[in-house]
Amino acid sequence: MELRVNQKKLIMQVTKRTRRQEYRLKQRELIDASPIMVKKFPRLKSLKSLLEYYDAAGITKNGEMKCKLNVEFARSALWFACPGGECVGGDFDLSQPLAKAVAGCQKIVTGELRCMGTRKRADREQVPCQTLLRYTLNLTYD
Ligand SMILES: [Zn+2]
Repeated sequence: MELRVNQKKLIMQVTKRTRRQEYRLKQRELIDASPIMVKKFPRLKSLKSLLEYYDAAGITKNGEMKCKLNVEFARSALWFACPGGECVGGDFDLSQPLAKAVAGCQKIVTGELRCMGTRKRADREQVPCQTLLRYTLNLTYD
């Protein structure tokens, strides 16, 4: 009896991990299939991003990440993972804001995106993630 319960638990954990991994793998394929930034945006010289993660209400900041992307190597599909440890099916796609910024030769772009993934609450109920990302892109051109 004890063993059966443990096995059931184990299978559930494996299933959950697989779903998340499958989603990330699919994203990875899409990203890898996109052209390199310098090919898609020949005028783009450098790109820096500041990502600030907030709760659903946009009040409490839960973390931030700064990164400098190498336009010679980075893919033009600009995805960032949701920091929510159990979040599945969401994340942040900045490909469109990036393409728009480059098209308009903008140097600084700010905006908000909400994670559309789901995660499990402490009581195991599935709830929308809704993590709010406030982003700033800094771009320079040739
Ligand atoms: Zn999320």
